[in-house]
Formats: sequence, structure tokens, C-alpha cells
Amino acid sequence: MSLLDLLFPTYCLSCHAYGQYLCPGCATKLKSLSVVYTPDSFLDAQLSLFKYKPPLSNLIHQLKYEFVSDSTNFISDLISTSLHQDFPNLLKYWQSENFTLVPIPLHWYRQNWRGYNQTQLISQHLSTILKLPTQELLIRSKYTNSQVSQKDKLNRLHNLDAAFTINPEHQSNLPQNIIIIDDVITTGATISQASQILKQHQVKSIWALSLAG
Ligand SMILES: [Zn+2]
Repeated sequence: MSLLDLLFPTYCLSCHAYGQYLCPGCATKLKSLSVVYTPDSFLDAQLSLFKYKPPLSNLIHQLKYEFVSDSTNFISDLISTSLHQDFPNLLKYWQSENFTLVPIPLHWYRQNWRGYNQTQLISQHLSTILKLPTQELLIRSKYTNSQVSQKDKLNRLHNLDAAFTINPEHQSNLPQNIIIIDDVITTGATISQASQILKQHQVKSIWALSLAG
């Protein structure tokens, strides 16, 4: 047991057993969702692995608001395990077509406040365990209020207007195939904005992957 474990012990968010954010017993109770193809939008398909409800919604909330950055590794492992178990052919397809993981960025203001961007950490960890490259291609150009606290869908859509630009470092050499990474996809407005700007820059195939949706 590390000093950190002694100071901040981890309990299962579902049954409160000591040890992990989700104990093995509760983790196996999670049922994965299926791929949603969206050919008439900028996005080709979306895979949200699990329903956005407790205990996963508690885990994501903790990650977003309580500065628990070590739970990003746990979330990445959950995503990886589910992909290997339930979507092995999709994972092989992504690997063979050299899909690049692109995290949804935070605005610099929010990142400074929080100290890290959880989707960037998840992307980096996933890149290693899934053997897919990752690049920070997107920049958040406009400050948007926290998505989770907004109940009004219209307000959300308005809020995301022109939210992203392409990182000028990578603009001349964008990958052909991209998987946008977010921890949770609710209305899909953020992903839609991100995929629109990528498609406008001749990215061929765009997927979205999230832990929950
Ligand atoms: Zn449990």
C-alpha cells in the first residue's frame, strides 16, 4: 500500500468495497452499448461504451470536479478492457488503418484552474495500451461554461459555436483517420463541432469514442 493509498483510500463507487474505483465484481456488471453509425453527419460513427449512470457517472464526476487525476488511468483501462472484450474487430480495424486518437481539449482557462485535461491524460494512456498514435490536433478557441451544469440543450449548442480550431503545428499534416476521445458524450454537440472542423480540413474518417454516453 502506498502513502497515497493511506491518505486517500479508494473505495468502489458502487458497493463501497475498499481497493478500486470499481471493484472487479461491480465492473463485470457493466453492460457495453453498441456502435452508432451516423453517416449523414460530419461524424462517421460513435461508440460510447457504457450508459452514463451510476457508478460510472460518479467516476466521471469525480474526475471532472474533484481533482482525482489518477482515476484517468482507471478509466483508460476500463475503455481498453471493454474494447478488447466486446469490440476486438473494431480495434483491429482502427489499428490496421492507423487511426489517431484526438482528445477533446479544455479551454486554457479551465485547464489552468483544474491543472490537467482529463481527456488528454486518457488519450495518452490509451495510446500506449491500444497501440494507436495520439495527437493534440484541436484547440478550444472560446470559453464555454461547464457542459454538465447546463440543462438547456439549445443553450449548449449555442455555447459551442466556433469552439474549436486546428492546432497550427499539425495543420499541414493531419492524419487521414481520427478517433475523437471524450470521457462522456451527452448531446453530441461538442463532438459534432470537433468533427465538423476536422472534416473541413479533409480528414477522411472520424469516429468518436467515450467511456459513457
Ligand atoms: Zn463494487
